[in-house]
Amino acid sequence: MITPDAPALPLRPELADEVPYGAPQLDVPVRLNVNENPYAPSDAVVATISRYVADAARELNRYPDRDFSALRADLADYLAVESGVRLDPAQVWAANGSNEVMLHLLQAFGGPGRTALSFAPTYSMYPEYARDTHTRWVTGRRAEDFTLDPAHAVATIEAERPSVILLASPNNPTGTALPPSTVEAVLEAAARIPAVVVVDEAYAEFRREGVPSALELLDAHPHLAVTRTMSKAFAAAGLRLGYLAASAALVDALRVVRLPYHLSAVTQAAARAALAHRDELLGQVADLRAERDDLVTWLRDQQVGGRPLQVADTDANFVLFGTFADRHAVWQGLLDRGVLIRETGPDGWLRVSVGTPAETRSFQDALTDVVAETAQKEQ
Ligand SMILES: *Cc1c(COP(=O)(O)O)cnc(C)c1O
Repeated sequence: MITPDAPALPLRPELADEVPYGAPQLDVPVRLNVNENPYAPSDAVVATISRYVADAARELNRYPDRDFSALRADLADYLAVESGVRLDPAQVWAANGSNEVMLHLLQAFGGPGRTALSFAPTYSMYPEYARDTHTRWVTGRRAEDFTLDPAHAVATIEAERPSVILLASPNNPTGTALPPSTVEAVLEAAARIPAVVVVDEAYAEFRREGVPSALELLDAHPHLAVTRTMSKAFAAAGLRLGYLAASAALVDALRVVRLPYHLSAVTQAAARAALAHRDELLGQVADLRAERDDLVTWLRDQQVGGRPLQVADTDANFVLFGTFADRHAVWQGLLDRGVLIRETGPDGWLRVSVGTPAETRSFQDALTDVVAETAQKEQ
């Protein structure tokens, strides 16, 4: 669309009608919209970060370690403690958020003439990574209860022949974790194409007791990549540090496409400082999981229009619930009461992040109010 005053810029035509990613960033008392950890770092954590960053600052005239070896070793140590899977630092990769890790994956394994596949509903950023790397984007379907039928997954892989398959587990926005048997069925079908399988475990630390991590499958599957982030459970969304575990060969391919020195010395230092406090930063995860399970129970007890609310099973730090005839009105009603949640997912559903107990109470009170008000209007 060329308007008379618009400068003639040679924008790629497929970007002409696109808008930037944007969950609303509104300054309201209760922010439960982007699945952050609600607990700010303690003074002790802040002090360590300051110290590490000060040390890095003394050498800011030099480029940082391009291969961030010390950070990769720290991340490998963390994964060993968190999941029991011991990896070599050469099997670990990191970037500015797992968003950038995903971009590296698509730059290396996607591209023109190639296809990336996922299963809807899932993370809204995936199609953007595909678009930005000229990769064809295809989605299969999740079942009514948001689980993934392995037979459907395998059939879709065989029909579409993707080079990259993206599986979020726990999935966003539904919270659904995939059983290892499903991931293994996908891995086997992918090996025959061949395709790289990316299991996005951004929320892995919140998984319920007994739900394993795909890290356990790395040994047997060199075409598997498991992505993680410090943005969610690790309470460091502002840090922008995402990472990946895979075979050393897969990681080597990512080293080719990354921009040189993509991880600043300041980021590397702050991430290492945060990892040194892992016990404390993850200390709230158990509370958040319990809070989440209570919130699911509470939501399932709520009635809307004479029907109980539907609530998806969740292994993440958020809950998808619905359905509402007019979800935007409910979202707006909550916002008018100072509670920001996310209007996302299939029609009629809303997603709320788990906050502090006080924030959860505010959300519950506001939702009760909004639902009562809607019922009155409909009478
Ligand atoms: C939040 C989220 C991420 C994390 O992205 P970062 O860039 O690491 O902040 C990745 N995947 C999913 C599905 C998410 O919801």
